[in-house]
This record gives sequence, C-alpha cells and structure tokens, in this order.
Amino acid sequence: MLASETFPAHRFKESIFKPYSTSGSASVDDLASVNKTLTSAATTSSSPDTHAAVDIAPTASSVEFETARKMLTNNSSSSSNNSNNNNNNNNNDAKDDISGFVASHPAAPFEGFIRACVDEIIKLAVFQGTNRSTKVVEWHEPAELRQLFDFQLRDKGEPQEKLRELLRETIRFSVKTGHPYFINQLYSGVDPYALVGQWLTDALNPSVYTYEVAPLFTLMEEQVLAEMRRIVGFPNGGKGDGIFCPGGSIANGYAISCARYTYAPESKKNGLFNAKPLIIFTSEDAHYSVEKLAMFMGFGSEHVVKIATNEVGKMRLSDLEDQVRRCLDNGWQPLMVSATAGTTVLGAFDDLTGIGDLCRKYNMWMHVDAAWGGGALMSKKYRHLLNGIERADSVTWNPHKLLAASQQCSTFLTRHQLVLGQCHSTNAAYLFQKDKFYDTSYDTGDKHIQCGRRADVFKFWFMWKAKGNLGLESHVEKVFRMAEFFTAKVRERPGFELVLESPECTNISFWYVPPSLRTMERDREFYDKLHKVAPKVKERMIKKGSMMITYQPLRQLPNFFRLVLQNSCLEESDMIYFLDEIESLAKNL
Ligand SMILES: *Cc1c(COP(=O)(O)O)cnc(C)c1O
Repeated sequence: MLASETFPAHRFKESIFKPYSTSGSASVDDLASVNKTLTSAATTSSSPDTHAAVDIAPTASSVEFETARKMLTNNSSSSSNNSNNNNNNNNNDAKDDISGFVASHPAAPFEGFIRACVDEIIKLAVFQGTNRSTKVVEWHEPAELRQLFDFQLRDKGEPQEKLRELLRETIRFSVKTGHPYFINQLYSGVDPYALVGQWLTDALNPSVYTYEVAPLFTLMEEQVLAEMRRIVGFPNGGKGDGIFCPGGSIANGYAISCARYTYAPESKKNGLFNAKPLIIFTSEDAHYSVEKLAMFMGFGSEHVVKIATNEVGKMRLSDLEDQVRRCLDNGWQPLMVSATAGTTVLGAFDDLTGIGDLCRKYNMWMHVDAAWGGGALMSKKYRHLLNGIERADSVTWNPHKLLAASQQCSTFLTRHQLVLGQCHSTNAAYLFQKDKFYDTSYDTGDKHIQCGRRADVFKFWFMWKAKGNLGLESHVEKVFRMAEFFTAKVRERPGFELVLESPECTNISFWYVPPSLRTMERDREFYDKLHKVAPKVKERMIKKGSMMITYQPLRQLPNFFRLVLQNSCLEESDMIYFLDEIESLAKNL
C-alpha cells in the first residue's frame, strides 16, 4: 500500500482571506480534519490525540482572543482551559498559555502582539531613532550592558509584556544606523520602501533556490540583474548572468571562482592540489575580501599580489604589468585582476580602461569590485568614473551601499551566460529535480554556493519601482553634491586638512589639527600627536552619542577621519554640524 493512500484528504476550504477561526460554520468537523492532516499519516481517527484536539477546538479561539486582550492590558488572571494540565497555578498562567504555545503559527493571540510590536518598532526605531534631536548611540561598556539587559535564556518562556519591554530595550541599546549623524560606515539611512520590502520578505520567508518555492522572486531577480548588467554596459544590451549574494565579499569570491573555472576548468574536479599556481592581482587599497576569499578558496594569500597605488589611491598600471611579467617568469599563471571602483577608504576609482587593456594583453579575467562606487552608474553626471567597466568579465555591485537599500543587498554580475552554472552546479537530485513539470531552467539555485537564500532582490526592486531610474539618479547626485560641499568646507576651514585634495567618491578623508598642534613643526612628534587626535575625538563622540564617524590610518599616514555619505536626506547644515561637532569635541586636545 502506498503511504499516500493512508493520508487523510485535505479540504481546501480555508483561504488566507477567510481565517477559519472567525467563520461560524467552521466547526469541529473542519478543525478535526485539519488536525488529522497535521498529525501524521499513521494516526487513526480514533487516536486520543485527535480527540483532544477536537475537544479543545471549539473554545480555542475565544480563549485566545480573551488572552490576547488581557496580555495587551497587562491584566492576567484567567486560568487555562488547556487539556494538557501542565499548569502549576502560578500567578501568570494566562501568559503561560501564549508562551507555551508551541506551534509557530500566527493564531489570533499573536495578531495583537505583532501589531503592537510593529507599532513600537515604527515609533522608536524608524522615527524616533532617526530624529536629529536624539542620540545616535547610547554607549555602555560590555560589562555594564550585560547588567542592563536581560540576555539570559531560561526554561520558562517570558510573557508578552516582558518581550515588548525587551524589544524597546533592544532598540534603546542599538546604534541607530538610520540616523542622519551615522556617517560611520558604507551604509546608512532607512529607505522607507526598502524597509517595507524587507519586512514583506521576512513575512513571506521564501528561499530563492527553485521556481517552485519562489516563483515571483526568481523572475524578479532575473529582471533586476538584467537591468543592472544593462546599466553596467555589457554587450548585447546586457547579456550575461548574475546572482544576489550575501555581501560584496562573497560576490568577490564568486569572481575568483568563475575566473578559476574559466581558466582552469579541471580545478572543479581536481581542486588546486599539484596545479600550477594561479595568481590574482589587486591593489594595496582593495577591499580585504579579495585576499580573504582567495585564502578561503585555497589559493593562499601568497598568490594574491598587491599592486601599489599612486598618490590618489589608484592602482599603478606600470607596477601591475611588471608583476604580471614576474609571475610569467616564475612559470605561474596570471589569472585575474580585481580592480576597484570606489576604494573603501579613499574612494578612488581604478583606471578600468587601462586595466582592461592589460587583461586583454595577458589573457586575464577582469573583475571590477564596484561594491561601493557602483551606485554612481545610475548618474549620467558621475558614471564616467567607471568608464571601462563595460569591458569587465564580472562586477560586484552592492545596492546596500551608495544606493541605500537596506542590508544586505549585493550582486555579482557577469557577461558570461553559462559560467556560474557550470562552475558551481552539483545537481542535487532532492532539490533540483530535472523531471519537474515546469521549465527547470528557472530553478536558479544550483549556480549559487548557498542553499537557502534570502530574497534580497525584493526590497531593492520595490524601492527602484518607487523611485524610478530618475529617483535613484537624483539620490546619487545629491550625496555627491553634499560630499563636494563638505570637501569645500574642509578646504577652507582652519584646522581641517584633506587627505586627498579632490576626492572622487562620497567618502571624504580629512584630519583635524587642534589649535595646540597648529604651530608645531611637521615632524615625527607632530605626527605622533596627530595620530592620537581622531581616536580621542571618536571616544568623546560615542560617549556623548552626538554623531558617529570612522577613522583609520593608511600606510604611513596618521589616523584620519572618513566621512561617508549615502543618505540623501543630509543637507548642507548637517555638513556644518559635523565640522562644528568635531571641533568642539576636540577642545583642549
Ligand atoms: C564594502 C566593500 C566590500 C564588501 O562588501 P560587503 O557587502 O560588506 O561584504 C567589497 N569591496 C568594496 C570596495 C567595499 O567597499
């Protein structure tokens, strides 16, 4: 006998628009049938389990509503009707009904809870947390924070009131990265459309590996990636392939993987053991993920050659060619160049046309890491910064950076239509069945190294839909305009000094020299003292909560501040605030 023959038949009565608990005719019968389906095929209709479920069913919804009402008014005294008598009659038994509810199903008592939580998140995290009059961060030492927040997990669940308090405290003790004065990192702001998009994907909870479980998101990914390739300028209107990745770092790893497969296809089977070393070239200012992923993938960091940058942070092409020659002299194989379009610290754009020429000349894969600067492609005024990107074999582009989609939203794009699939597929028969009834070329999951995967596409598609190309363009142009305004102010204001006279992107690096150092000779002692200014100002800033800006040293340069702009709600007055605030925090240094 087939297992399916003993399986109870479904009744497709309930629609998501008509919850069974509110329908008068949804009787014991309906619920019993649902219950039978849920208990396994082995359960017979006379099992005690089923009886128990039937007995509870008629009263369940009213009890749930009543409990929910009590939870919300924080007034609990009703006792449990639950037949499994595990109640120990303590004073919050109604709360136990909810927290002891094991199914993850949004039954009636949860609706009030979900709505109340979402309301509070909107009020506290989305609006209050991004108001200029509030702190960016409420700082506490780790030991202190451990005391202030109830991290402990216990045998017994917590009542909903306590959970809501924990939500409020989580918001309170978290950094408000959507706050206009959070200019600390390469992402910031809260885009309302991206936020709603992200919430919807969390509600639907899809995994984008097969058309079967994510039909709409599969097609949406194709659409968005094709559009991005077209904007990059790949030939034939943007032909090729692409994927959404968990971060630009992983996207850079995909570039290495595709390059390796293309130039050494046998490596898919044999690995890199006993093979000729393959060499990756990138600049000394490139993102660390290139080296990290090369190590992760078995190349070894020795086989990532760092090319020196020039005085404005761009890869030196003469040095690149020298290193490629040296690699050939050693009998190694030059595999790829990972150029950077918008370096993480200085915001420099490598000469993509020149690098493209060298890649062609020495037959190397050309990758452009435009994780940060890629957003500039949306602007007619600034896309020239990435001239030559259309010649790349592959591109990393993070919409969660310059375009301000919420974390994470990263893409890997390639002009080659088949490489991702050829390189990564293993044809797992339990997920990518070839005998499905629909066109399985839409089961795109096998070209990823992930199995389950979030639908990061949706929030980006939704905000793109809301703003249009023109909206994204004006967003990008606004943040560039603010960066130019800020640069001009730094240039003219006493005590402030630019690291690069003309920064290309919206990250602006600068020193603040306090009055006590201004008359000093620019010797070793001066630089040692200047090196300590930024960390001290940063400490005061965080403790006050007034803003967050990052700092770092670079090669021989002492610590400098780096303003990073990608929030287009920032105005000129905010730029002045940043300078005033740094000046005031540095008082008496
Ligand atoms: C941020 C960044 C990355 C890494 O992206 P994640 O999404 O943070 O992993 C890679 N390259 C550059 C140039 C970056 O600025």
